[in-house]
Amino acid sequence: MTSLPKQALHYIGGEWSGDPSVPRHDPANGTTVVAVSPAGDEADIDSAIAAAEAAQGEWAALPAPTRGEVIQLAADHIAADRDSIAEDMTREEGKLLTEALGEVQRTIDVLRFFAGEGQRSRGDLLASSSPDTELRVTRHPVGVAGLITPWNFPMAIPAWKAAPALVAGNTVVLKPAALTPMSANHLARAFAAAGAAPGVFNVVHGDGPSPGHALATDARVGAVSFTGSTEVGWKIHENVSGRRGRVQLEMGGKNATVIRPTADLNYAAQAIAQSSFGLTGQACTATSRVICPADMMDDLLDLLVGHARAISPGSGLDPSSSMGPVVSATQAQKVRGAIDAAVADGAEVVCGGSTDDGTTFVSPTVLNGVNASSAAAQKEIFGPVVALLRADGLDEAIDLADNVRYGLVASIFTKRIDEAMEFSHRVQTGVVKVNRPTTGLDLNVPFGGVKDSSSATFREQGTTATDFYTWTKTTYLGW
Ligand code: NAD
Repeated sequence: MTSLPKQALHYIGGEWSGDPSVPRHDPANGTTVVAVSPAGDEADIDSAIAAAEAAQGEWAALPAPTRGEVIQLAADHIAADRDSIAEDMTREEGKLLTEALGEVQRTIDVLRFFAGEGQRSRGDLLASSSPDTELRVTRHPVGVAGLITPWNFPMAIPAWKAAPALVAGNTVVLKPAALTPMSANHLARAFAAAGAAPGVFNVVHGDGPSPGHALATDARVGAVSFTGSTEVGWKIHENVSGRRGRVQLEMGGKNATVIRPTADLNYAAQAIAQSSFGLTGQACTATSRVICPADMMDDLLDLLVGHARAISPGSGLDPSSSMGPVVSATQAQKVRGAIDAAVADGAEVVCGGSTDDGTTFVSPTVLNGVNASSAAAQKEIFGPVVALLRADGLDEAIDLADNVRYGLVASIFTKRIDEAMEFSHRVQTGVVKVNRPTTGLDLNVPFGGVKDSSSATFREQGTTATDFYTWTKTTYLGW
């Protein structure tokens, strides 16, 4: 039975609005329309910012634990509806239903974590150099937070930006990715059902640069948090810092896994397969390069190819699929183009490849003999493709790992503590994993990268996530 397309609408000032005329086609078949959403423009962004600005004072005046209770209720609404939310996510993004359920759970967990931050919200009391004086440091909301988000984690990323912003007393305007409108719609529904006052949480749908640009360039938006491609991120950085606003960027990655001679190869190959091909390789933390000593390469390849060949791509809703499609035909073409370019640069396709069967399914692809300066070793592909490079010594491996513009996550597989420590101290990434896959991060620790992976300012997630959405005031209390 074919189900009707789901309708996403703008949520502005507590009202649902817009003409849902933009179709989203099922990434698994390219034809069925799974969702429709409105094409938001500058005027919609303007209304949403006005609504957020009008609501901010009252929202900030609520006690922080009360704001936390609203966030907690939003989490409860999502939890009550998790199966249908996950199904909508799979239909629009393509990921496996199990992966979508995992993301919905992550959303619930993130909201609950920051709801609790409402109870723990605090400042500092410091000694003064003057007698009969105390120094208080308190935190205050920036005002309106503008959130611009990608399609690959269409609910968890908006949630992990919105929740710290809201608990700290800001109101929010979210511009989600056009490919995944329903996931943002479900988040808005949850905040509406939780009783967030009109204007506290707003969503404007829309494709292309203009709605996001309007949000980033508006002086009423005190803080802009962006997750997406590095190219778009740095443009937003220019726009926001040019108007002296506060900006946070989480962007691309080209994450390396380093294999050392003492590594448990079975376990390492399993971890690489999981982080290179899980979520169809469409994770900023995916392993896209493996750096391995020459005399271990054949064994690693055998194991990795075994895992890759055991994966059966198919619709995310089909329980027999073990990898979903690439998010769109355009993205599938980009991934195939990157495989072709790798071959032209001298790489060998050990399994998978760029065969175009007219679908959005790309087989898990392992590239061997990849030149360290070629595009396959340098550029983010954002698909189920992993490039193998050779390095015998630890120094050489660290140099190769760092030899990219990105610096998000790196991992090493070794049983030697000295190698693990040296790697974790020296490698230029925001997250380091020892004997663990590059993907999968706890929500209670800061997350972000260096170089072209993140702006060099504030981190997301963990208790310090609220720093981005607040400024400090120092008060001298004398008597
Ligand atoms: P994208 O940069 O194309 O789009 C991201 C968002 O920006 C979308 O909402 C889009 O509409 C908006 N946008 C586009 N142009 C804009 C402009 N000029 N001004 C303002 N907004 C604009 O990214 P994508 O294709 O949706 O997502 C994939 C990318 O996201 C990958 O590069 C991936 O690595 C990255 N990503 C990073 C992280 C992280 O935490 N570092 C997490 C997930 C995804």
